[in-house]
Amino acid sequence: MKVAVVGSSHGGFEAVRGVLHDFPDAEIDWYEKGDFISFLSCGMELYLQGIVKDVNSVSYATIPGMEEKGVHVRINSDVTNINPKSHTITVVDVNNGKEKTENYDKLILSIGAVPFQLPVPGKDLQNIYAMRGRDWAILLKEAEVKPDIKNVTVVGSGYIGIEAAESFAKAGMHVTIIDLNPSILGTYLDPEFTDILADKLKNEGIDIRLDQSVKEYIGNSDKKVTSVVSTNGDSWDADLVIETAGIRPATKWLDGIVDLNERGLIKTDEYQQTNQTDIFAAGDATEVEFAPTGKKQQIALATNARRQGRSAAHNLNEKLRKTTAVSGSSALHVYDYKFASTGVKDVTAAKCGVKVDSVFVKDTKVPPFVPADHNAEVYFKLTYNPENREIMGAQIMSKMDTTANINTISLAIQQHLTVDDLAYADFFFQPGFDRPWNIMNVAAQKAQDKLD
Ligand code: FAD
Repeated sequence: MKVAVVGSSHGGFEAVRGVLHDFPDAEIDWYEKGDFISFLSCGMELYLQGIVKDVNSVSYATIPGMEEKGVHVRINSDVTNINPKSHTITVVDVNNGKEKTENYDKLILSIGAVPFQLPVPGKDLQNIYAMRGRDWAILLKEAEVKPDIKNVTVVGSGYIGIEAAESFAKAGMHVTIIDLNPSILGTYLDPEFTDILADKLKNEGIDIRLDQSVKEYIGNSDKKVTSVVSTNGDSWDADLVIETAGIRPATKWLDGIVDLNERGLIKTDEYQQTNQTDIFAAGDATEVEFAPTGKKQQIALATNARRQGRSAAHNLNEKLRKTTAVSGSSALHVYDYKFASTGVKDVTAAKCGVKVDSVFVKDTKVPPFVPADHNAEVYFKLTYNPENREIMGAQIMSKMDTTANINTISLAIQQHLTVDDLAYADFFFQPGFDRPWNIMNVAAQKAQDKLD
């Protein structure tokens, strides 16, 4: 069997790994249009903050390592067309534009997404950057030490925007964050958390401009950006703009080849098979089932890409293992605050089309007799369906690392557990680690009180 895998990021890498494992005799052609394989954008912040020194180490695999495993790695190879009937793909060499046709028995697409570029006047000025992939990582790292860059504007305050803002503030620049939403991290956390984090960012000297968007970028005679004008009429200096205002699936060329949804995401079944029998898809270019609602949507996370890539490889010949629905769990730090969230939040419930109720608990990580240098406040919010009592989501934040609790809630959502299941669930206690009642028990008991 000849398997072609397109895209070498999380989903593509996992698909190749899966095929090597499940079909050791398969011939694997791995296509990547860039000149590097398997760069992890997830590690970009560690690189920008100097914790990881070598940009090339931010990767799962090397070309020689994969070739040693028998994989034919084809970098600088842009796959531009597929003929499902003849089982062929068109591959363009990005260095010389030469086209060739290659065949496959099974094809796995993990072609991901590209950063959304704001369609505003001045968008083509220099020093308007994105933050995704190795090339941008290198440019951003260079920008951190450019003497003429003093003022940085980050457009979008999702995960990536916050990572960019903190990295450039730590590099000594004055950073402004602008976001359409009324709060930062507005799709990840409720105000009980974002108010604290916004204060923290402001205390670190970061300006936050909410409820507004970019109207225009202004540049100088060198065509370099110099300032940002916002939709509410303000303007401020900017020598560098980092746009982190969402992504778009890189799927335009697939229109008419495989079924796409109205947002351009590849439709697959739960075995990652597209409407074309021998074409599978994974990662940010695909729809993902959101466990709390059962609806398909975009949930652009490396975890999902890897899960789907593994599933695609496993199901190439037979429908063996379904990809599970996910809760969209993620974690991040904002300076010394570490937080994680999963599922539905109060701020996202309406968009998800569900009605939820929630309880908020503030506690200490370990019993209060444990001194402050080994203890910290913990904020936890549990969201549930008030009609059937099912757990719908949770958020946690502390200066100590309590984020793993969110993985428990993610599983609870996936298994449709209720607040009653969680209220007296068996969690360990040891004063160095936890409280006799884990904060998840406490919140679920509070929810029971509210519901009964
Ligand atoms: P992508 O990563 O989008 O990669 C697609 C690859 O396919 C690219 O290499 C591209 O060049 C190649 N390609 C595209 N089209 C073609 C074609 N036609 N022919 C050949 N090659 C093609 N997720 C987490 O879970 N945790 C995190 O901490 C996290 N942090 C992140 C931080 C940043 C800054 C960013 C940008 C993202 C982060 N993510 C994180 C999200 C995660 O990186 C993505 O979900 C993941 O990369 C998606 O993988 P993918 O395989 O779908 O595709």
